[in-house]
Amino acid sequence: MRHIAIVGSGPAGYYTAEAAVKKWGDDVRVDIFDRLPVPYGLIRTGVAPDHQSIKGVSRRYEKVALSDNVRFVGNVAVGSDVSVEELQDLYDAVVFATGAPNDRSLDLPGDHLANVFGSAAFVGWYNGHPQFAQLDPDLSGKHAVVIGMGNVALDVARILSKERCEFDGSDIVRHALEALCASNIHTITILGRRGPHQIMMTPKELGELMHLNKASPRVETVDLPPVDDDAILEPGLRKSVTLLRDFAAIPESIHGEKPITIDFDFFASPTALHGNDGKVREVEVERTRVEAGRAIGTGETYRIRADLVVSCIGYRSSPIEGVPFDERAGRFANDGGRILPGLYCVGWARRGPSGTIGTNRPDGYSVVDLVDEDLVGGSPKRGRSGFDELAAARQIDVVTFRDWQKIEEAEEAAAREGAPREKFTDVASMIAARGG
Ligand code: NAP
Repeated sequence: MRHIAIVGSGPAGYYTAEAAVKKWGDDVRVDIFDRLPVPYGLIRTGVAPDHQSIKGVSRRYEKVALSDNVRFVGNVAVGSDVSVEELQDLYDAVVFATGAPNDRSLDLPGDHLANVFGSAAFVGWYNGHPQFAQLDPDLSGKHAVVIGMGNVALDVARILSKERCEFDGSDIVRHALEALCASNIHTITILGRRGPHQIMMTPKELGELMHLNKASPRVETVDLPPVDDDAILEPGLRKSVTLLRDFAAIPESIHGEKPITIDFDFFASPTALHGNDGKVREVEVERTRVEAGRAIGTGETYRIRADLVVSCIGYRSSPIEGVPFDERAGRFANDGGRILPGLYCVGWARRGPSGTIGTNRPDGYSVVDLVDEDLVGGSPKRGRSGFDELAAARQIDVVTFRDWQKIEEAEEAAAREGAPREKFTDVASMIAARGG
């Protein structure tokens, strides 16, 4: 028998559990811990609420969760309710699938001003993450600036642009839906410190900007390189750049028909945020030029009006005491997923915040291969029975997968018409919903 503890119930955690069951069948017991009483990590609180087809992958994780050898152990914080050393005493392998839940800091003068948020917080707000549900961004100003040119920046710009009916069928939480529908934002500037050939946005997500009821994307033709230069790009990026060219060709009359403009501001590196009365009002940027793929400051600066700033510049993992951490990269120090004997990491906790949900699948399978290499002979560990004793002695209120199913039923029952669910946004309500 092998006893595996996976810390984190997002995609990386569930793919690892799936791989463990495939490899060892009845000879493994997997416990998947989560600090929240609800599973699926970024699928629930990261993937945009209007991207329900992506969220559908949770059905695959549910199948894994329901297999006899896998348990969900929710509402348990590893590092405080139970230490890593304790898990190591109980399990043959502890795999961190904790993702990268913290915003990379802008680290600019003025980044403390009110109404400046990182994307983890802002996305967590509209997705009902208990940590950020109370964020209460002020959307009464006219101008929003979104920093970064990746898919998260696109999610944020799109969500800020939609009208109520465009959220039909989504699971955006009520407080965000009401705030967004009352929003006064008219311009959304997406800031990129490099050029069109260096965007991280993928074509499907970029293309969605063409189909918004209230907003149109605007690209300045002068920012685009000669068309022939696109030939060297890999096909996905080439498609994205072609879409930018389509945006540049949108006639002014169309922009005039829609109240919101999404402006792409390339070659613009933020250098400071300015405000008054403690609230952000402007972003100062330095014009750049790109040399050998790098942004070089030109010394020319200008200011952009900004009543709301959301920086979408990447994420960092949370360190856990006693586990080696690579501060510079913002993830666990590891060699292909191995941190120390018996300690592993997978997904964003291993490689940093890149790739799609599916990228975590091979990650999960390869970390299970590593565990297999390292585990020789039978296990003397106690696994889940040992954890259950410890949890009972500490009176930890463990939330099981069956409990989660009751929470899920309650969320589905509370859904607006046409919506898949109305999420609970605080831990106490989640726990109450599982009943007695
Ligand atoms: P990302 O793709 O790495 O993009 C980050 C952006 O921030 C880049 O444009 C980067 O510019 C910029 N940036 C970084 N530091 C900056 C700074 N100090 N000042 C200004 N700009 C800065 O990250 P992400 O958008 O957070 O996405 C994370 C991962 O999740 C990606 O793999 C993404 O594809 C995935 N995701 C996918 C979907 C989807 O498929 N629908 C949705 C959301 C997220 P430089 O390139 O110049 O560094």
